[in-house]
Amino acid sequence: MIEVKNLTKRYGKFTALDGISLKVEPGQVYGLIGYNGAGKTTLLKTAAGVYRSNGGHILFDGEHIFDNAKMKAQLFYVPDDIYFTPYSSMNKMADFYNGYYANFSFDTFRSLTSVFGLDPAKPLNGFSKGMQRQAELVLGMATNPRFLLLDESFDGLDPQKRQMIKNLVIEYAKERGAHVIISSHNLHDLGDMCDRFGLINGKKLALEHDMSVFDNDYVKFRMAFAEGDEKTEADFSDVELRKFSADGRLITVTVRGDADEAMAKIKEKAPVYLEKFPLSIEEIFMEEVEGVDYDFTEIFR
Ligand code: ATP
Repeated sequence: MIEVKNLTKRYGKFTALDGISLKVEPGQVYGLIGYNGAGKTTLLKTAAGVYRSNGGHILFDGEHIFDNAKMKAQLFYVPDDIYFTPYSSMNKMADFYNGYYANFSFDTFRSLTSVFGLDPAKPLNGFSKGMQRQAELVLGMATNPRFLLLDESFDGLDPQKRQMIKNLVIEYAKERGAHVIISSHNLHDLGDMCDRFGLINGKKLALEHDMSVFDNDYVKFRMAFAEGDEKTEADFSDVELRKFSADGRLITVTVRGDADEAMAKIKEKAPVYLEKFPLSIEEIFMEEVEGVDYDFTEIFR
């Protein structure tokens, strides 16, 4: 398990993270969301043992990471600013990582290189930014990490590669019981791959939630009633109503809880038209964050 406990990180007098706590269970993909400058990279770099924290701690299976070579060999961090030395190629990097990571697999390396269509002999500095991200991820996966930290790993990737990486990471985490933290400033990037997400705002974790709420907990119904049988919000007191709007005879309601039960209760009111819709990720998110002081519009861009 990854346990971040009351973590504080300062750069000189500037506090970037102030008392952040979160947990990542084996097999879990944890999405870290926040604006530019919110502190995502700081958290990941501190977790990766690049920075030393100024308070609190991060434990990987109960062990501190900083100056812990044994645990670092089980962790792979893909930064958002990837740097390769001049003339290095994926093959050279594979040899280098093989010397450091005891579980490095050349089989995995070769098969993923070919799946992603990357030339492992070519100088990495000649790769595009998106190709460099893919290359580093392929190398990272070949180390068979128990802990995988990905910083803005979808930046600059085309939709097809994005999906490939998502599938790869999800399958890897589930099959191996690996722990994954992935950051993004965009919830859309993470919505369909994470089990849990946390939102960093104001140096703190403003919100944390299981992604299952996006699948199960909310549903939207659109309906109309016969003339003379118009309904008002008060008529829906038997369902857990989150939102009610009426446009002429067309009524739209958002309901929380068991969708079938809500559907049955609405049917009892005898609508002449009734349809069920899933909520968009934005709509659910806005429901979940009601009352949290944050301008969320940016993270849906
Ligand atoms: P982005 O989405 O733009 O990558 P982020 O959420 O990853 O942003 P961080 O890079 O962690 O944010 O930065 C958090 C805060 O810490 C910012 O205010 C940033 O200016 C500051 N900061 C980051 N690195 C340093 C550093 N090396 N020295 C001083 N301040 C820093």
